[in-house]
Amino acid sequence: MSEFRSGFVAVIGKPNVGKSTLINALLGQKIAAVSPRPQTTRRRQLGILTTEAAQVVFVDTPGMHQPHHKLGKFLNQEAEEGLSGVDVILWLVDGSHSPDAEDQLIADILRGLKRSPYLILGLNKIDLLHTGQTMEGQILLFQNLVPHACLVSLSALNGEGRQELVEKVIENLPERAPDFPLDQLTDLYEREIVPDLIREAALEYLRDEVPHGLAVRIDEFTERGEVGAYIGATLFVERESQKGIVIGEKGMMLKKIGSSARKEIESMSGRKVFLQLRVKVAKDWRNDENFLNRFGFQIKKKK
Ligand code: GDP
Ligand code: MG
Repeated sequence: MSEFRSGFVAVIGKPNVGKSTLINALLGQKIAAVSPRPQTTRRRQLGILTTEAAQVVFVDTPGMHQPHHKLGKFLNQEAEEGLSGVDVILWLVDGSHSPDAEDQLIADILRGLKRSPYLILGLNKIDLLHTGQTMEGQILLFQNLVPHACLVSLSALNGEGRQELVEKVIENLPERAPDFPLDQLTDLYEREIVPDLIREAALEYLRDEVPHGLAVRIDEFTERGEVGAYIGATLFVERESQKGIVIGEKGMMLKKIGSSARKEIESMSGRKVFLQLRVKVAKDWRNDENFLNRFGFQIKKKK
């Protein structure tokens, strides 16, 4: 019988390619916020998949992108740190598009790594191939960026190719005892995930109106036995005009956001939740280091 395998897998790629969707699907439970809007995942989070033969620890990194402002810088730093010391790098791309400058940038970073972990290129969203696109053609386009990578095509959403991907990952992990208890799914717990779920619900309804200038702070989180949990949270926007949009006419928008977030929190935790949301303006918070620090987005000084 072969030995138990265990190790870390950095899941990298541009925002919106399906990293969180894939990890949630593999774990069979929602541990990471999924959003049609980029940048919902703001912290590094572990997703732990344990099978009879292996324990795979996925490190979901915030999207890599050009650092437009301080928050962007933090996100990139986190993403690059996620690459050091892992056993496998899984680079997820949107296989229904052609590689662009950002993909090229990621390919350059990967080729420049001093110690190079086993690299898998996951060609995701193959359920979305347009007319005129062929799987072979898409594979070729991306394979050219990283000739040394092993290429797997999949749909994180409908499941096609997901199992093959997991097998390829496990094959390349070292023979080792598991690092985490066999029933542990993540290292972030409800209180840390809830702000992400609220942001996700808000971005779902607000679409392009309040792009990334939205932060969520939990003000109160108390268990009230039989009736469930009481969660009070504040949504921070950057401008007065955005406040009105988030609240909506007669408070309808905030109500919709709250109800959708509450459902997600309840389905994640399996108990009732009473969620109360408020909206406040914090001018230009993305460039305010104190604000970012209070929210745990710490910008580390380069050593
Ligand atoms: P992340 O930013 O890389 O973590 O991306 P998310 O997991 O948040 O997904 C971004 C969007 O792409 C969401 O609307 C997902 O439902 C969608 N998505 C993810 N994987 C697939 C896929 O395989 N096929 C299709 N059609 N959509 C997908
Ligand atoms: Mg994500």
